[in-house]
Amino acid sequence: MSFDLASRLAERRAAQLYRQRPLLQSAQGAEVVVDGKRLTAFCSNDYLGLANHPQVIEAWQAGAARWGVGGGASHLVIGHSQPHHELEEALAQFTGRPRALLFTTGYMANMGVVTALVGQGDSVLQDRLNHASLLDAGLLSGARFSRYLHNDASSLNNRLSKASGNRLVVTDGVFSMDGDLADLPALCAEAKRADAWVMVDDAHGFGTLGATGAGIVEHYGLGQDEVQVLVGTLGKAFGTAGAFVAGSEELIETLVQFARPYIYTTSQPPALACATLKSLQLLRTEHWRREHLAQLIARFRQGAAEIGLQLMDSPTPIQPILIGDSGRALRLSQLLRERGLLVTAIRPPTVPAGTARLRVTLSAAHSLEQLERLLSALAECWALLARERDQHD
Ligand SMILES: *Cc1c(COP(=O)(O)O)cnc(C)c1O
Repeated sequence: MSFDLASRLAERRAAQLYRQRPLLQSAQGAEVVVDGKRLTAFCSNDYLGLANHPQVIEAWQAGAARWGVGGGASHLVIGHSQPHHELEEALAQFTGRPRALLFTTGYMANMGVVTALVGQGDSVLQDRLNHASLLDAGLLSGARFSRYLHNDASSLNNRLSKASGNRLVVTDGVFSMDGDLADLPALCAEAKRADAWVMVDDAHGFGTLGATGAGIVEHYGLGQDEVQVLVGTLGKAFGTAGAFVAGSEELIETLVQFARPYIYTTSQPPALACATLKSLQLLRTEHWRREHLAQLIARFRQGAAEIGLQLMDSPTPIQPILIGDSGRALRLSQLLRERGLLVTAIRPPTVPAGTARLRVTLSAAHSLEQLERLLSALAECWALLARERDQHD
């Protein structure tokens, strides 16, 4: 018997769930070239427009000239270089935590933290809508795995009452497919009552939330007593790549000793840390990007509501338009693309069945004019879609 990959692929296609990779032929930005076509993109996570910022590029180039290109080895052997170390210190200061530890990707950071903190006999409690990397980490850890209702403190309370061993409550800060914020004050209170730790993956909150861009914990004013484990990724608002975990001295030392995705991998290129140090500085000090983004978000929500689109409860740059049916979500995405706009359709299993959506993401790199173009194209395509459906019925 051989692997019947052909029928697996055919099934996926038939279910309107087949994935394809758009080929990007330009740098990240509001205007891109994809598959040979100029498009205005509303789907990147480069929320502050730093991925192609001249000063960040310059820092990268200077870093490469001084430190070379490759990390060379793992952190514990001889791959932990001065720029990595400086970046960790800067991130600790930025998050107001005693220490921070750099990981090569957010996926690996989540794997590393969860598996280092809990195992057999322990319990990991996760929001149903958590990022795939957190769910995978929970399963891999061997801890008793339980998922509570989305953002629901009483459901968490119920699960905590049945949990055993060390208890780790894990949540996205900003939910990546919905854009809503974790109700951290309520969730942390439940955790505290049960003597559990809270781990927040704030991949989408860093740079976009909080007075200095320090994310959801800054937004709510939560310290290390409430959120013991804070994860951030560097590939989104920071515009570079990698991730970090911030927390106590003991937490970070535990990760250095026991987090396998930290130990058994080559460190990221030191020049990348140089670039991230620059983007961190821009992110913290140049508030105009967050202010412009807030303006774009408000205008988008107002305009979309006027068209009659179904938005989600999101105050963030992630602004999904709920469609429901995967085929219709794809069709709307295609109609927009024909009008020069790139907005991704997100389908199950990335989101729950029956909740396919168009995931609009806004960036400080967008102008108000580009946003108005999106809104008028949405109005036109939404009407077209309704007409197409009427003809089918
Ligand atoms: C993007 C993302 C990750 C993964 O981070 P990478 O650095 O891209 O691997 C983890 N968690 C959440 C919530 C994310 O959105």
